[in-house]
Amino acid sequence: MTNPPTPVRPSREEAEEAVRVMLRWAGEDPSREGLLDTPSRVARSYEEFFEGYAVNPEELLQRTFSEVDDYDEIVLLRDIRLESHCEHHMVPIIGRAHIAYLPRKRVVGISKLARVVEAYSRRFQIQERLTAQIANTIDSVLEPYGTAVIIEAGHQCMTTRGVHRPGVSMVTSRMLGVFRDNSDTRRELMAMLNRPGMSEFSA
Ligand SMILES: [Zn+2]
Repeated sequence: MTNPPTPVRPSREEAEEAVRVMLRWAGEDPSREGLLDTPSRVARSYEEFFEGYAVNPEELLQRTFSEVDDYDEIVLLRDIRLESHCEHHMVPIIGRAHIAYLPRKRVVGISKLARVVEAYSRRFQIQERLTAQIANTIDSVLEPYGTAVIIEAGHQCMTTRGVHRPGVSMVTSRMLGVFRDNSDTRRELMAMLNRPGMSEFSA
């Protein structure tokens, strides 16, 4: 699950040629001045959009802190910006993720949770799998009492093409451990999520 796929990687030149083919397919002339550098720009963009394949998300969570003075409440990181690409249409999925876990002795730096979101979202994805991968990784590495991941996102394959439904967002969640088994814990999480934003703390 966490290992990047290892098909033979085409060369940069092949990738740029593929962009020229798609430009011609769309009706363009790739030799037009404005498009001359487009294939190399697209290739560079792809390196950034899909850098998650080179990251091992489990490694990001290896460094944990155990001196938490018996902290035994929910840790929630909400409104993590999420940018991914739909694997069916290769267009952006833009949204936000909320991650919660109930620590069992160990906590992790919050920036690391955001990095796990990045590692999986900078790949071709479907939102359901992305949600599950993030939750499963946190759950298996940190071994908390429970893990919850909720993602809400807009899919450009739905908003800019096909059914053209701007403003529609999709919500997916994966609840593990106490968040799955204990309705009180799940309710507590939902109450934390629905609280108004505390912008005075996030400036
Ligand atoms: Zn799609």
